[in-house]
Amino acid sequence: MNKLDESVMVLKGIGSSKAKRLSRLGINTIRDLIHYYPKRYKDKRLITNIKEVSPAGYFNIKGIISNKAEVLKSKRGILITKFIVSDETGSLVVIFYNNRFAKDMFKPGDTVIFSGRTSLINNRITMECPEYEKAVSNSINTLRIVPEYGLTEGLSQKEIRKVVYSALEYTDNTIEEIFPADFRKAFKLAEINFTIRNIHFPEDEKNLQMAQRRLKFQEVFFLQSYMIKLRGNSVDEEKGIEFNASKEVTGLVKKLPYKLTGAQERVLEEVLFDMTRPIAMNRLIQGDVGSGKTVIAFLALINCVKSGYQGVMMAPTEILAAQHFDTIKNYINIIEENISIALVTGSLKMSYRKEIQEEISKGNIKIVIGTHALLNEELEFHNLGLVITDEQHRFGVRQRAMLKSKASNPDMLVMSATPIPRTLSLVLYGDLDISVIDELPPNRKKIETYYIGSDKRERLFNFVKKLINEGRQAYIVCPLVEESEKLELISAKEYCEKIKKSYFKGYNIGLIYGKMKNEEKEKIMEEFYNGHIHIIVSTTVIEVGINVPNATIMIIENAERFGLAQLHQLRGRVGRGSHQSYCILISDSNSKSVKDRLRFMTKTNDGFLIAKKDLELRGSGEILGTKQHGMPEFKLIDISKDHDIIKASKEAVDLLYKKKKIKDVQYHKMEKYLDDEFAKITDEIALN
Ligand code: ADP
Ligand code: MG
Repeated sequence: MNKLDESVMVLKGIGSSKAKRLSRLGINTIRDLIHYYPKRYKDKRLITNIKEVSPAGYFNIKGIISNKAEVLKSKRGILITKFIVSDETGSLVVIFYNNRFAKDMFKPGDTVIFSGRTSLINNRITMECPEYEKAVSNSINTLRIVPEYGLTEGLSQKEIRKVVYSALEYTDNTIEEIFPADFRKAFKLAEINFTIRNIHFPEDEKNLQMAQRRLKFQEVFFLQSYMIKLRGNSVDEEKGIEFNASKEVTGLVKKLPYKLTGAQERVLEEVLFDMTRPIAMNRLIQGDVGSGKTVIAFLALINCVKSGYQGVMMAPTEILAAQHFDTIKNYINIIEENISIALVTGSLKMSYRKEIQEEISKGNIKIVIGTHALLNEELEFHNLGLVITDEQHRFGVRQRAMLKSKASNPDMLVMSATPIPRTLSLVLYGDLDISVIDELPPNRKKIETYYIGSDKRERLFNFVKKLINEGRQAYIVCPLVEESEKLELISAKEYCEKIKKSYFKGYNIGLIYGKMKNEEKEKIMEEFYNGHIHIIVSTTVIEVGINVPNATIMIIENAERFGLAQLHQLRGRVGRGSHQSYCILISDSNSKSVKDRLRFMTKTNDGFLIAKKDLELRGSGEILGTKQHGMPEFKLIDISKDHDIIKASKEAVDLLYKKKKIKDVQYHKMEKYLDDEFAKITDEIALN
């Protein structure tokens, strides 16, 4: 067996109880352990002469214990243990509080290194509760750049350092290098054993940087390689369909009930151009909420159908799929065409679904809108030519790939309201082309956003009543449905009951939450669309894509529970018609970061600014969603900062796959490794 696959229990000093603690950190094997990277480092290389130690600073000193421990009790009953430490230049006091064992830790004559904060106590410079280690020549806790790890109960920094260190000794430089030497040279990557040693116990800053660079590169490189494998290994010039109805489509635009914005026109042109080319389109349309992406999708679908192919569009929720279905059907009527369209979701009756699937496979249905249910293996297309995914950040990379696999080289269109920074999209899609709709349809008023405390709720509700009486509708979002969590969150259900009986007596209120049956959900949305329901109280299920232009106020309770991007999505549910719209963030949180976040929301409506800030605040792992999707994890790379490394990795991927260099003999090991890892991921997908 590969040493790395062995249990941590092979290490000296690790029994079952310590193994259990490590397991809580996700560490079970030697491999896990050596890839458990430090969160930060402390530079303890510099030893200060005691003479130069000042009160109120952080110092490392090395000295000799010059007395037996002095143990006293303070007036308040605190046990104090005191030592005097001296070097050639002077002496200072070291004290420990409430530690019965402290007095036996050192004896006079011991040479000890202490690291800690100093202060002035009884007019003497004193180090309180410092970290310490008896001086030895090869220390892992002092006199070096010292790693600090994420901990768990019952495991101290010193202990985990020791465990990691012995794992490194155990592997003894035998970690297999999968990058060939010339590849490492070309992309300035350190060797793997050097890297692992130095990420934990760096000899100096330069080595640490080299280790970090290699590991970051590796993270991005692996992800990009998996993407290519998912796409079926052929990045270069995929032959695609030459759709030929773009003239007709441009002609139909005149029949739409509004004039396209300049941005929409430009993006449509880009899409039609791509579709007409004999190369498969791979394009992302980015446009803030409400910028009008759906109509572009519709026109692309028409181009596809008119060219004799079927088109499919996948949405992340049933409500959204149903809404797209209605919108597209409506547009089809408006342009006076006779095109068959079907909705495929998980809640369809089996018999009916079978029927639809039959019609799709025969090619009688031209446009299919749906949810994840579209991924169902039984669903086969007659001649699928265009695959559109909406609000893609909800989908895993692999889901898109699965849908795509139902056709041979279809054109791909991804629509997203989350502006993805260029670097992130490079990681996620490689060579994806990006079209941006950076203009809202005319006559949209800026959504006014306010941040208030719950004490103002009553006044707010009076305002809501006024809007409803003028004919508008409202959303109220409550983060949770059941009162299950210990946190004092307002449960949507209870909340709904309460306002029905008090503030909004006589008004129609609908409740929507995640676990609700889909038919019920749709029924309520239907009633909201047609104006019968005045207020929708919901958890976050309305987050994406819902379009009810008459709804003009969005109230978000416990707004502190949401991140910036989510708040922006929620806010995007209003401001979709010509009436002035409002977004009210309610929160009583005292946390400074929450306050800053909510204030930021009141200051801007710009999705790009918000996404940038969100990325800064949350980091990229969560936004990528790589973890949920069983993709390789990002531990070190920081998408918002490591542009150079991402670019280098992209170059590497191009070199290897486009130029087919990966087939060279010295790359066998790497290719095998990637294939094995890829197989593991696909297995995991099959299991889910
Ligand atoms: P999103 O980009 O968030 O998916 P939608 O496609 O749902 O936005 O469009 C939002 C609303 O704007 C819809 O009601 C749509 O009919 C309307 N709309 C789209 N384009 C225009 C336009 N050029 N002029 C006026 N209204 C438009
Ligand atoms: Mg949309």
